[in-house]
Amino acid sequence: MSEPAKDPAGGPLVLVVEDDAQMRRFLRVTLRMHQYRVLEATSAQEALVCAAARRPDLVVLDLGLPDADGITVVERLRTWYSGPVVVVSARHQEPDKIKALDAGADDYLTKPFGTGELLARLRAALRTHNRTAANVDQGVFVTGTLRVDHDRHEVESRGQPVKLTPLEYRLLQALIRHADKVVTRTQLLREVWGEAHVDEAHYLRVYMSALRHKLEADPARPQMLLTEPNVGYRLRTQ
Ligand code: CA
Repeated sequence: MSEPAKDPAGGPLVLVVEDDAQMRRFLRVTLRMHQYRVLEATSAQEALVCAAARRPDLVVLDLGLPDADGITVVERLRTWYSGPVVVVSARHQEPDKIKALDAGADDYLTKPFGTGELLARLRAALRTHNRTAANVDQGVFVTGTLRVDHDRHEVESRGQPVKLTPLEYRLLQALIRHADKVVTRTQLLREVWGEAHVDEAHYLRVYMSALRHKLEADPARPQMLLTEPNVGYRLRTQ
C-alpha cells in the first residue's frame, strides 16, 4: 500500500493518538485513503495540546500511552471537547475500555481490527454526534422492521403495533439515542433507572430479553438489539 503524500482536502479532521509507530502508520494511511485529514500525537500530553490547538472533528485514542492512561485523556478532553472520541484497546485492557466509555468516549475498537471496522466505527461516531439529543427524542425513528413514533409513544414491528411497558420504552429510547454506538451497562442503567441503580445489571438482562422478544424476528439471534460482550449493548441500524 503506497502512502498518500498529504491530506486530502476538506475531509473530517481526525486526531490519531497512538505511540506505536506501525499502528499509527496503518491509521494514517487508511484514513487518508478514505478522505480524512489526519493529525498525530504519540503521548497523552501531546494529544491534549494538539486537540486544544487544532480542534479535530474526531479523536482516535489508544488507551496504552507512555505518559498517562487513555482514561485520563478522555476525562481531560471531556472538560471542554464535545466531539466524538473512539478508543482503541488491546484485549487485556477490557476494564479500561469500559472506564473510558463511562468517562465519555463514544465507542471502541479492539486490536486487531480491520479497515472496514475502523471506517464503520468512525462513520457511526460522526453521524450520531451530528444528531442532537433533542431531535432523537422527537418525530419518528425507523430502522429495518422497527418504527418508533416518539411523539405518540407508539412502536411498530413488522407493521404491527407492539405494546411496551414504560421501562421497556425508556430502554429502547436510550438505545435509539445512541444508535450504532456501544452503550455501557452503567450508562443504560443510569439513563433508564437512575444513578441509584447503576449496579443492577440484572435489570438490563431482563428488559433486553423482553425487548428482543417483542421486536426481533428471532430473539435468540438478535439482528438489531446486539450484546457487546462484557461491555453493554448496541442498537444496530445498518
Ligand atoms: Ca500503545
